[in-house]
Formats: sequence, C-alpha cells, structure tokens
Amino acid sequence: MLKKIVPFIAFIFCCLASIAQSEDSITIKKISDEVLTNGKAYENLRFLCKKIGQRISGSPSAQKAVEATFEMLKDAGADTVYLQQCKVPHWVRGIKETGFIQFAGQKYPLHLCSLGNSLGTGLKGINAPVIEVSSFKQLDQLGAAIIKGKIVFFNFVMNPTYVQTFRAYSESGISRWQGASKAASYGAIGVMVRSLASNTDNYPHTGAMKYNDSFPKIPAVAISTNDAEWLSRKLKLRMQLTASFTNTSFVLPDTTSYNVVGEIRGSEFPKEIITVGGHLDSWDLAEGANDDGTGVMQSIEVLRALKATGIKPKRTVRAVMFMDEENGGRGGDKYLELAEKNKETHLFALESDAGGFTPRGFSLEMSEAQISKITQWKDLFLNYGVYDFTGRSSGSDVGPLRKIGTACAELVPDSQRYFDIHHAATDVFENVNKRELHLGAVNMAILIYLIDKYGL
Ligand SMILES: [Zn+2]
Repeated sequence: MLKKIVPFIAFIFCCLASIAQSEDSITIKKISDEVLTNGKAYENLRFLCKKIGQRISGSPSAQKAVEATFEMLKDAGADTVYLQQCKVPHWVRGIKETGFIQFAGQKYPLHLCSLGNSLGTGLKGINAPVIEVSSFKQLDQLGAAIIKGKIVFFNFVMNPTYVQTFRAYSESGISRWQGASKAASYGAIGVMVRSLASNTDNYPHTGAMKYNDSFPKIPAVAISTNDAEWLSRKLKLRMQLTASFTNTSFVLPDTTSYNVVGEIRGSEFPKEIITVGGHLDSWDLAEGANDDGTGVMQSIEVLRALKATGIKPKRTVRAVMFMDEENGGRGGDKYLELAEKNKETHLFALESDAGGFTPRGFSLEMSEAQISKITQWKDLFLNYGVYDFTGRSSGSDVGPLRKIGTACAELVPDSQRYFDIHHAATDVFENVNKRELHLGAVNMAILIYLIDKYGL
C-alpha cells in the first residue's frame, strides 16, 4: 500500500507546486505589465535630475530631494511616510578647479576636479615636479628620496580584462581612497589621480577619498582619462614636467539630514520588515541620475507597483531613500541603529545602486539555505531578463543590516557603461533609458513579492 501512496503524495505535491508557480507567473506578469505600462520611475527621475539636480550630502539641494521624495512616496500609495534624522558630513567643492602641466615653456591645461573630502590648495595653488606611479608597491620603492616635494600622479588604469567592471573599480579605487595619505607619508605635496573610468574622455570623475590622520592632509584631484593617457606618454619620454593645480574645497561642520521612508504595512506579519532602497545623495558634478537617482526611483516604483496591482504584502514593505552613501554612509548606519533600537525584525533588504541599466541578476549576501530558496525561483525571472544569481555581495546602505542577520541583496544591472559616467558631469538623466530602468524595478518587485509570499 505504502508503495502506492508515496508516489501519489509526491504527485500531489508536484501538482500543488506547479499550481503555485503558475499563480505566481500570473501575478508577476501583472506586476511587469503595470510597471512597463504605467511606471512612474522615469518621470520621477526626470524631476529629481532636472528640477533638483546634484544632491551632495549636507547641501540645500539634498534637503529639496528629501522633500520631493517624501511626496513621491505618498503619491505611490505608501501607508505612512516619515523621516529618519541623521547627521551627515558637509564637504564643499569651492570654486572651479584649475590645473596645468608645464614643459618647454608651455602650459597644457588639465581637466580636473577635487576628490570628495579633499582639502584645498588655497588660491595660490601648488606647483611641483610630477611623478607617475602605477601601484602602491612602486610608490613604496621610490620612497621619500624621490617622492618628497613632488606631486604624485596615480595612474591606476581600470583593468579592461574584467567583464565585471565593479571589480576593476574596486581594485584601482585604492588610488582614490588612500592615495593622498600614502603619498603624503613620503613627503608629497599633492596628488593627481587618474579618474576611475572605463572609457577615455575629458571628464574628470570625483568620489570620496579619506585622509589618514597620521600624515599631512595634502590636496587631491582627479584628472580625466584622456589627460592621464597624455601625461603618462610624456613622462615615459623622460620629460621633466611640472604640475600645478588650484582647488579651494573645504569641510563645514556636520549637518542635519534625513533618510526618507515610505511603507506598506504588512497584513499578516507587520513586524517583519522587507526593505528596498537606494541612496538619495549624489556627487555634485552632475545630476546623480544613474548614481543613484535610478535606485531611489526604482524603490518607490516597487511600492507603487504592489499597490497598483492590488497585492497586499503579508510583511511590511519599506522603500528607503538613504542619505549620504557617497560620503560616509551615515544614513545606512542610522537605519541600522533605529532598527536595533526599535527591536525590528528585518527579514530581507534589497538595494539598487549600480545604475539603471538592463537588469541581469541579483547578488545575494545571505545564508546558503536562503540562497538556494531564492535560486529555486530562477525560472520566474527569465521572462524579465534576469538570470544571474552568482554574486555574493550586497549594497553599502543595506549592508549594515547584516549585523542583525538580515538577508541582503543588490540588483545587478549590466555594468559596461556605468563607469563611463559614474561621479562625472555626464551622469545625467539623458543617459538613463526608460525601459531599462523600469525593467529593473519589475525584477525588484518580483523578488520582493516572492520573498514576502514565501518567507526566506
Ligand atoms: Zn551610488
């Protein structure tokens, strides 16, 4: 008898599972159709980019962005919208930077910009022989005997052989983050860093740098990749070149700012929270369209799509516009602090901060059992272009939640164009494609729908 019952039960389970799968396919199609037909992310992004523009932490425009997204979350149908107050750094670029290379009695102007947190040269600027290094090892070998009194040019090329451009970015990124203090430890008076970009053009790319308090705080600028190529060629001819630059950046006291939070209260387990977010602040050279206006607007869209399709999440779904990802991550830290203080249970947190390009997958930072649960749903994403679940990291705003055991993830869009525009004057609304942006929101909403329905 048992021999007959076991296959029968297995058959029933298979039937039930496939009924659930087809029910899910229908709901998922509904979500997708809603976003691709009536999605608001693109128009919301236009407003953020064109009416507000850059939103560097601590600035008046960052505050305007807080107010604007507060309204957008209400319009999206959130049950409640509120702010989480936090202190953020307030770095100011100052007047437009200038710089040039001097040789054979001629001046060759450079395309350059201060790195975030860099202190200024003062209006007089600095002027010194320039020396190129392409690794920290090389810098160490040259030592104080060669470096003292010079301007160090860090020519760390993003490795073009990596298909995952983020890998190249983090490898070369040490020149931007640590280069100034490294060079200062050998007596350099300033640094020029090759922009972290995967293309070659005339736009310098800014981004955060950090001083090590043990060494003098010397000014740090980024030069465009075209300038870096040109300068490197000249230096390889053993030319004696002098570099000059002027930047007037400075740091003001920390300022009060906010994370913006909108939520749909869970119908069965309101105390279990699912977070979806991006960061509201941006660098100041452009509109912060792909970094990270797109992630912010996709997160609002997830909430809107759930509401518009009549899905009533069992758990509380929160869209969070994090403040200050670019310059220290104070908003992400505050979010964790409040989650701990309020003894909240955070089941899952999803971030979108890799550009609004065609979605390819999700990177999952969670237990093996949770990863295998999510990958069982793989086929449900195929119609919407997502197939890659191999990444094992998550974003820097949701990342702090790992401390309280939250399963974290990040949307993985195609990364080939991101570093052409990242932190540069070209990160503008015109470089975002509506279909790609909305398809990212579709997949984010699908993942949240499934995790809410089946748990994790
Ligand atoms: Zn970002």
